[in-house]
Amino acid sequence: MPDGSVAIVGAGVAGAAAAARLAERGIEVDVYEAVPEPRPIGAGLLLQPTGQRVLAAMGLLDEALALGTRVDRLFGDTPAGRTVLDMSYRRFHPEAYGLGIQRGALMGLLWGRLRELGVRWHCGVAVDGFDQDVRGVTLRLAGRETERHSALVLANGSFSRLREGMNVGQSARPFPWGAVWTVLPAPAGFAQIELRQRFRSASQMLGLMPVGRATHADAQSGVNLFWSLPVAELDGWSTRMGLDRLKQQMAELFPDVAPLIAGLTDAAQLREARYADVWMRRWHDGRVLAIGDCAHGMSPQLGQGANMALIDAHELAAEVGGDWPQVFERYTRRRRAHLRFYGQASKGLTPMFQSHAVVAPWLRDRFFGWGGRLPYIHQQSIATLAGVKTGWLWGRLKL
Ligand SMILES: Cc1cc2nc3c(=O)[nH]c(=O)nc-3n(C[C@H](O)[C@H](O)[C@H](O)COP(=O)(O)OP(=O)(O)OC[C@H]3O[C@@H](n4cnc5c(N)ncnc54)[C@H](O)[C@@H]3O)c2cc1C
Repeated sequence: MPDGSVAIVGAGVAGAAAAARLAERGIEVDVYEAVPEPRPIGAGLLLQPTGQRVLAAMGLLDEALALGTRVDRLFGDTPAGRTVLDMSYRRFHPEAYGLGIQRGALMGLLWGRLRELGVRWHCGVAVDGFDQDVRGVTLRLAGRETERHSALVLANGSFSRLREGMNVGQSARPFPWGAVWTVLPAPAGFAQIELRQRFRSASQMLGLMPVGRATHADAQSGVNLFWSLPVAELDGWSTRMGLDRLKQQMAELFPDVAPLIAGLTDAAQLREARYADVWMRRWHDGRVLAIGDCAHGMSPQLGQGANMALIDAHELAAEVGGDWPQVFERYTRRRRAHLRFYGQASKGLTPMFQSHAVVAPWLRDRFFGWGGRLPYIHQQSIATLAGVKTGWLWGRLKL
């Protein structure tokens, strides 16, 4: 018999959802989270129909809808008025939409579910490493004794060092661009916006998305503000550039943003985001599995990371049965096509939106808007955004 419960490292979207889905299937779970007091912080996420379906399966969708805001359309253009993106979920499915939600709201729902299920949660406990044998996995915990488990799920984000302990071909390349982002109270009129983006070449990008409320007690809805920056400029941006200069750049690119950024008065309101492209040949190694950004971190341009994390958790629970190495192997097979497609799409598309490239964004500005008016291209683009594609030409994810 294998030893002990399943250990999950990380209580972000992937770890919390996996812990909940496994506990719902009657699996004993221990969650290890490095942060002493996880707080529901973070900015906005766009939950696609796929992620929504997982929340529905967990009985959390109604509450997520009550907190978040429905997004029916994504629209992006250039200062010269050239349409770059114009996608309606309706054209994917008459009842489909995106859900703009604050990360804190989503985490509140997932952590609430963990409490209801009585999942053991070890906060302020960083996992330093692990060793596995045929019967189980031994975790090395920072400043503590080791713990023994039957299996280990790594859900500790793109910059995981634990992943390197898996005997699997892998790479994690920090992306040369990142962003600053925040949620600001929606001024009158702004609550009605859809997901709105404004681009100047690929070197400037501003994104706005309505994300509803963080908790039921909040009276006001929020708008997520995203501003793209090269990583070299991200470090120490507030002292080098200053908040006023940043706001000026935002307003020059998209004058309509002025009433919203009037609420941006302190550089500390903006959080910095860095991401990495994570590639793994497979996601399992014996009794160890990587999920979420740890397994397939990507840039946020396609709005898929949290959705992928939810799907990973859902599909892992669906494979439960038998010993863990077989469960994890089946999980890899089940997830392969979907994860490969989005990894490739993210790598291909991100430089068109965040880079110093000249030709790729020029082509984007000329052809994306035009191509998007062709029914087939629009169908493929919106299916990609909706999170359901498992191949470039055909293949749909069935959840
Ligand atoms: C700017 C931006 C915008 C985004 N927009 C979207 C969007 O619109 N839609 C979407 O779906 N996704 C979006 N994403 C992506 C999404 O936020 C991530 O994909 C998702 O949150 C990943 O969750 P995760 O649980 O895998 O990792 P994380 O959220 O990184 O969680 C990892 C957890 O592991 C803990 N941890 C780390 N190391 C250890 C250790 N050694 N021991 C114990 N604990 C540890 C950390 O403290 C953390 O809590 C966006 C991301 C960014 C940066």
